[in-house]
Amino acid sequence: MPYVHDTLTRLKQSSPAQSEFYQATEEVLECLRPLFEQYPHYHEHGIIERIVEPERQIMFRVSWLDDAGRVCVNKGYRVQFNSALGPYKGGLRFHPSVTSGTIKFLGFEQIFKNALTGLPIGGGKGGADFDPKGKSDNEIMRFCQSYMTELHRHIGPTRDVPAGDIGVGAREIGYLYGQYKRLTSRYEGVLTGKGLDWGGSLGRKEATGYGAVYFAQNMLAARGDDLHGKRCLVSGAGNVAIYTIEKLYELGAHPITCSDSGGTIHDPDGIDLAWLKQLKEVRRASLEEYPSERPKARYVPVCDYPHGGHHIWQIPADAAFPCATQNELIDIDAKAMLANGVACVSEGANMPSTKEAVDLLLDAGIAYGPGKAANAGGVATSQLEMAQNSSMEQWTLEQVDQKLQQIMADIHRQCAETAAEFGAQTNLVLGANIAGFRKVADAMIDQGLT
Ligand code: NDP
Repeated sequence: MPYVHDTLTRLKQSSPAQSEFYQATEEVLECLRPLFEQYPHYHEHGIIERIVEPERQIMFRVSWLDDAGRVCVNKGYRVQFNSALGPYKGGLRFHPSVTSGTIKFLGFEQIFKNALTGLPIGGGKGGADFDPKGKSDNEIMRFCQSYMTELHRHIGPTRDVPAGDIGVGAREIGYLYGQYKRLTSRYEGVLTGKGLDWGGSLGRKEATGYGAVYFAQNMLAARGDDLHGKRCLVSGAGNVAIYTIEKLYELGAHPITCSDSGGTIHDPDGIDLAWLKQLKEVRRASLEEYPSERPKARYVPVCDYPHGGHHIWQIPADAAFPCATQNELIDIDAKAMLANGVACVSEGANMPSTKEAVDLLLDAGIAYGPGKAANAGGVATSQLEMAQNSSMEQWTLEQVDQKLQQIMADIHRQCAETAAEFGAQTNLVLGANIAGFRKVADAMIDQGLT
């Protein structure tokens, strides 16, 4: 279809050197072909040309002092991508690899993910090329304060509500919130992922990981199966990975791996969750230390990965939960997983699988839940935090978890029904992209040319 091809070509010319953003847009636009064939009015309203262009992109300097009194400078970003369904909503990523292309890919994905939740939230994303690793608490605080000094002009509880992502957890949200309050004199729900004593929601910390497991549960139930007794590969060792592992145990599954940027842990007896939390949430240490308490566990450093793939995906298992970062699962990993018997993949991370890997998983017909559907539990619970903030209420963990389970079941149902409507029965990638897009596009048409 020339319409899709031309849009992608123009995008590459007008926004050069943003490969992750092209990857995300290409996947979405390719999936939309059958929709455009049946409903040409999306073309007439110029929806595609408009939806790939952020409503607003903010780039700013973040200057701060390190503990030695030296001036440091980072690049800060906030991309306010699409507000057709509600205020911009999406996390902040602090990682040295962050570029404007990274934030655009994440913001673009966020539009459709947020639409799938059925909640009134638009898509946005932000971050900085700042590396929190090895920094003192005071350095993190000074960086967050400087970052918020610029960002506060652009956000607000009905305007744009950031949250955490890689490198931004409870500590960073606390420093960011403190600075927002100081600058505006307003105590309001402008960030989510806040501490429980100052506006946070029970269940938010756990939501993305729990949601990815609920999504897997829904995919398996549709095939007459469940997670009980399944050996599971989990990558990452951060917020999403830890609570994926926790929920897998609760549902009787057997998570046997985790990873960080240094290497992979394979613990055939099952990951020791308390020890993992101690290492990562309390001590912020490397996984290299994990075997000291678990002698049967093996640590494989990144540099020892064979054949260019990632060691974690070579380990025999029944299900996989990529929860670290984008493009961490490539074609040879997908081949190894399929050969080893993995029959379910639920993505906790954003775009963790390359296009080639996704094609292999889809062709094999296994249960495959793409990130924008499977990890939407995090942003959905962020919206529940916003709802509690605006009504000055605090819901119980059971209330939040019940809503999360319902939202994940609804997302799965929408993806499966939409895939079936377009004749692609098990293809939840197509289902997620069309279902999410349709809601946003229809709202954009209703709201006129903006
Ligand atoms: P964290 O910062 O808490 O954890 C990230 C984990 O992934 C860390 O263990 C980190 O290792 C590892 N990691 C990061 N980059 C790499 C890399 N290049 N290679 C190998 N390992 C890596 O982030 P989150 O758990 O919050 O986020 C993980 C993923 O989930 C991201 O894709 C994020 O966008 C997505 N996501 C997060 C949501 C949330 O609510 N937090 C919501 C929806 C999606 P190390 O400790 O060594 O840095």
